[in-house]
Amino acid sequence: MTPDDYDALEAEAADESAFANGDESYPWFAANCGTCIHDKPAREGRDGDGCPLILIALIGKRPAQWLDGPRTPEGLFARATQYVCTEQRGEEEPDPTPRPIPDLPGQGVLLPREPYTGHRMLTALPEHTETPA
Ligand code: SF4
Repeated sequence: MTPDDYDALEAEAADESAFANGDESYPWFAANCGTCIHDKPAREGRDGDGCPLILIALIGKRPAQWLDGPRTPEGLFARATQYVCTEQRGEEEPDPTPRPIPDLPGQGVLLPREPYTGHRMLTALPEHTETPA
């Protein structure tokens, strides 16, 4: 993922705000983006090279890469773990290899990955949808 991927990442983002307000967002950004390799350029003063997912959140959308973090049975969550970012990589992480690891050259595969890769978001059923008995 690079800043050049912004348009594609925005297109797959959900049209809903990721955070209720700044109070909710700052602890999450600090806990997750504060040491992530993708936003290291912004921490070094090169804002234009920072993480595109943060920009998408700042325009009021929820990146598809942000999955719900742990919730209590009542739906409560800790601000630092409200979401789990699938692109998060520690800046000290020695191996920036994407995960899942791509198929090795010459490795046999049962099914092609392509149609099944990417991020998926669960959406609520439309109102007035009858569920089968
Ligand atoms: S990849 Fe995720 S954790 Fe890393 S800076 Fe971007 S939004 Fe934050």
